[in-house]
Amino acid sequence: MNKKLLRELPKVDELLADCRVAAQTAGISHQIVVTAIRAVIEQTRQSILNGTLQADRLDRDAIVERVVTRAAAANQMQLRPVINATGVVLHTNLGRAPLARVVVEKVSAVAAGYNTLEYDIASGGRGSRYSHVESLICQITGAEAALVVNNNAAAMMLILSALAKGREVVVSRGELVEIGGSFRVPEIMEQSGASLREIGTTNKTHFADYQGAINAATGMLLKVHTSNYRIVGFTEEVGLAQLAELGKAQQIPVVYDLGSGLIDDFGVAQFGAEITVKSSLKSGVDVVSFSGDKLLGGPQAGIIVGGRAIVEKLKRHPMTRALRIDKLTLTALEATLRLYLEDDVRTRVPVLNMLSLPPEQLAARARQLLALLKAADDLADLRLADGKSQVGGGSMPTVLLDTTLIAIRPKALSVGAMQAALRSCTVPIIVRVFNDCLYLDIRTVETADFQYVADQVINVLKGE
Ligand SMILES: *Cc1c(COP(=O)(O)O)cnc(C)c1O
Repeated sequence: MNKKLLRELPKVDELLADCRVAAQTAGISHQIVVTAIRAVIEQTRQSILNGTLQADRLDRDAIVERVVTRAAAANQMQLRPVINATGVVLHTNLGRAPLARVVVEKVSAVAAGYNTLEYDIASGGRGSRYSHVESLICQITGAEAALVVNNNAAAMMLILSALAKGREVVVSRGELVEIGGSFRVPEIMEQSGASLREIGTTNKTHFADYQGAINAATGMLLKVHTSNYRIVGFTEEVGLAQLAELGKAQQIPVVYDLGSGLIDDFGVAQFGAEITVKSSLKSGVDVVSFSGDKLLGGPQAGIIVGGRAIVEKLKRHPMTRALRIDKLTLTALEATLRLYLEDDVRTRVPVLNMLSLPPEQLAARARQLLALLKAADDLADLRLADGKSQVGGGSMPTVLLDTTLIAIRPKALSVGAMQAALRSCTVPIIVRVFNDCLYLDIRTVETADFQYVADQVINVLKGE
């Protein structure tokens, strides 16, 4: 232990008064700066005590620099925008669906003041928060009634509790999915108080399996869209229409957890294979639930559509209050749903637009960004490469969309170091890396951000 170094440790006030600290933390709150100073002093003390710091004198400049860096980092919003150059459209870690500009404007207008959340302008009395979106959802999906909650996991929890608590829920073994690590059908079931009645095998479940499982304790027939994987090969499952018929004959509600929530295929080939909300409802099932922030392209929400009597029962359930949607989400959802009333919804909802961009357009955009990278020509191998984009968010797992990638192989630094440097930009740039090469998939990058991306890539390659 070095007593001399310990004696040289600066006091908090000394560092606060240091003109370099003052100048470089101007505009940062006093509390943040003091916390940073304390942390750096304490860190330095520990390094002296455990012997990792050995020197004749304490390096004051280094301490000041660490304080400034730490305060700047602490002053930054933790939840902040990034540029998604992975091409994964519904990137769960990057916030799933980006909202349309018009949607954001509506949210900010409502957020800053008072609003009609539970106020009925016509009567001047109390209104319902659910009324803002219910008729829109019905109009767009063809449903009789609708209810929205916090997310689709909450929707499933509510549906199971309200309709099947203390009763058996029949589910095919091939549909006992886990989504995003924490949503597991059997666990949600257990929490809701319903009991799981597994039928069939992983790859095959027959109509007779459902028929054979039904007894006096059966409370629901549940079908889960295996939205994040597919069982391929020698398989068999029972269709929605057939299940709906069985439920009607036996007077048991049939529920479909659709998950991804594509409203319509909009005549786009890429969407052709995905089952839609409209077609699910047409099959005759009683309830369909899906997420707001997957293929619908809106905010996080769980949307429940179905028959009037069941939806009213769900609305009255005490859990609905605990799972309710807040005003900002509701505003974003209403504004997103309104886009579905427009003829050009496919281009107006960012998620739908990104997913349906034609390959020629993506190639043209990639060439545009590559041209902006010219200044980095001798610092890296830069070229265009054919690639595939993923839908993400556990949606359409077998669909791979043709795209054009910008491949970057840096000459003077490693791919890993370049990836990390791009992550530490003011607006972090998240890229793909494979085969020791870095790739930008511009499907998910707005053209307005191209210049920023190019500038950052060039700076990083230059080691700036
Ligand atoms: C995504 C998904 C969920 C969970 O939805 P959240 O909105 O993320 O809570 C549940 N079921 C299925 C089939 C899904 O795809």
